[in-house]
Amino acid sequence: MIEVHTGDITKLAVDAIVNAANSTLLGGGGVDGAIHRAAGPELRKYNETLGGCPTGEARISPGFRLPARHVISTVGPVWHGGDRGEEALLERCYRSSFELALANGIRSIAFPAISTGVYGFPKDRAAAIAVKVMCEYAPRFERVIACCFSPEDAARYERELARRCPDRAAG
Ligand code: ADP
Repeated sequence: MIEVHTGDITKLAVDAIVNAANSTLLGGGGVDGAIHRAAGPELRKYNETLGGCPTGEARISPGFRLPARHVISTVGPVWHGGDRGEEALLERCYRSSFELALANGIRSIAFPAISTGVYGFPKDRAAAIAVKVMCEYAPRFERVIACCFSPEDAARYERELARRCPDRAAG
């Protein structure tokens, strides 16, 4: 049900990959840049029609040249030390993405570690939030994938999964 995958999220052939976007939805660095490059310029063109997205919310686009059928863009919080509602906002990103996926009939979905790059969210706290919400929604999906960019990040998710939902099907 929940799989931990190490690698590039743009390679995953799933119903939807989630993008850690910025509020313009028009592309940026990190995973956002990689997704826009792999999807092609059509993604930016499409997203220009969406009018941006506030932190904590999510928007859906076609996958264009990606192997994934859709891109769900969500805007994570920038870490400012933890007293500006960052944890609640990050949780909202995962929930908004899952809810949008359900509303669009999506059965397989992959997430990057939202906000843990340039946005500076502490990785352990971010993984705890991600895994908590993933465990909650996983029964309503065929596949939920935590796509980690490094083996260290993957180990962090495996630890968190073992702690929070030890009865998950092995990934
Ligand atoms: P944010 O601005 O939300 O912090 P970043 O893209 O800077 O977003 O980083 C989010 C996470 O995505 C980081 O853990 C980073 O290592 C990871 N990442 C970067 N490129 C990819 C990719 N192609 N596939 C999966 N994860 C990626």
